[in-house]
Amino acid sequence: MPNIIDVSDLSYRYQEAGSRVLDHVTLSVKQGEWLAIIGHNGSGKSTLAKCLNGLIQPEQGNVVVSGYNTKDESAIWKIRRRVGMVFQNPDNQFVGATVRDDVAFGMENHGVAREEMLQRLDEALKLVKMEAYADQEPHRLSGGQKQRVALAGIVALQPLIVILDEATSMLDPEGRRDVLETMKLLNKQRGLTVLSITHDLDEAVHADRLIVMNEGKVIRQGTPAEIFQHAELLEEIGLDLPFAVKMERLLRQRGLEMTERPLTQEGLVNALW
Ligand code: ADP
Repeated sequence: MPNIIDVSDLSYRYQEAGSRVLDHVTLSVKQGEWLAIIGHNGSGKSTLAKCLNGLIQPEQGNVVVSGYNTKDESAIWKIRRRVGMVFQNPDNQFVGATVRDDVAFGMENHGVAREEMLQRLDEALKLVKMEAYADQEPHRLSGGQKQRVALAGIVALQPLIVILDEATSMLDPEGRRDVLETMKLLNKQRGLTVLSITHDLDEAVHADRLIVMNEGKVIRQGTPAEIFQHAELLEEIGLDLPFAVKMERLLRQRGLEMTERPLTQEGLVNALW
């Protein structure tokens, strides 16, 4: 698969005298990939996300999304159409009085014809399993349902890439699970490229590949199995290891050998039984 995002030697600082928040970041994302960017608070993840959809411009280096350089002002709207973003707080993302209005809002702004809009609306709500809530007021929904509606609004705009910036961090475990399932669906069934920015490593183990950030730098890249082989490094930079990795380590310490690295809770259960 070709690269859909290429970031090369990207540096950024918020004020001229301030320190670098992104420091020579180089990474690429393949079309259809699910990439998780992990790191503790303040490591530069959200700033990187803002660079990816052209909200802020690199101080140095280049960001190329779907063939367009974010420095090219004439391409900025093309980039924004291709990159959908879901943020942390589900309550800050609603504009419509009902779920249906809310999902339709973005399409109206993009000038989607009415018939096509209705079709995309139905499809998007079905995909996130919220069709039964179409006429409800968004603020009555649970956190997980709200994030799924936010995702429907983005899917309806037919982006190539969805960036979830800590989109599950304010949710309860059930909401997290629901949003995670929806992310899997978008990625595996729809072929959308998913970039999840998270400090929740239980979520990150589901990604195809992880990028570890610390103090504005990419300090490691690899599959979840490769990254969790160096669990000490993740602990050193203040990340809480996934439950299954902690359990596996505990079991090894007690002399119980795993035949394979489980990484996920389901994997752990399978390896034990
Ligand atoms: P993360 O998403 O990993 O928590 P951020 O990209 O939000 O990290 O922040 C990286 C650094 O940039 C932090 O030190 C943060 O305080 C600083 N920062 C973030 N946004 C701004 C801003 N708008 N103005 C000045 N500094 C900022």
